[in-house]
Amino acid sequence: MQHSVSSLLKQHGLRDTQSRRLVLHALVKGNKPLSQKEVYETIKRTDGSINLVTVYRILEKLEELGMVHRHLSSGGFVLCSLEGHAGHHVFLSCQDCGKVEECADPELCRHEDRIARSAGFIPKTHLSELLGLCSSCHTR
Ligand SMILES: [Zn+2]
Ligand SMILES: [Zn+2]
Repeated sequence: MQHSVSSLLKQHGLRDTQSRRLVLHALVKGNKPLSQKEVYETIKRTDGSINLVTVYRILEKLEELGMVHRHLSSGGFVLCSLEGHAGHHVFLSCQDCGKVEECADPELCRHEDRIARSAGFIPKTHLSELLGLCSSCHTR
């Protein structure tokens, strides 16, 4: 997974600040869902100084823009690996090694929109999660 953090920020019209870069770096490096506290601790441990309130604020903003998702079963934050892919984003979460992959499916989205509409509901984000074993864990 290769992300240029600066270009990610630019794509979304966000100012390239040190704090935003640190938060994104922590998520890339973490490679698994991290809570606000864990993002904060990762940054402290490595290269930067930041305060926890700033971490909260930045993650909130990134989530709003769809750059990060809140991982459903852990409540942690993960970088969206399918930015710009329309459709429903599905997490495939391995219950053994903790790896989280992401898939997108526009067809699934349309189906859900139909369900939502018939309930008089206006969906804004499609996000779900499948729990199970990843390819390296179930072949071991
Ligand atoms: Zn996504
Ligand atoms: Zn696994």
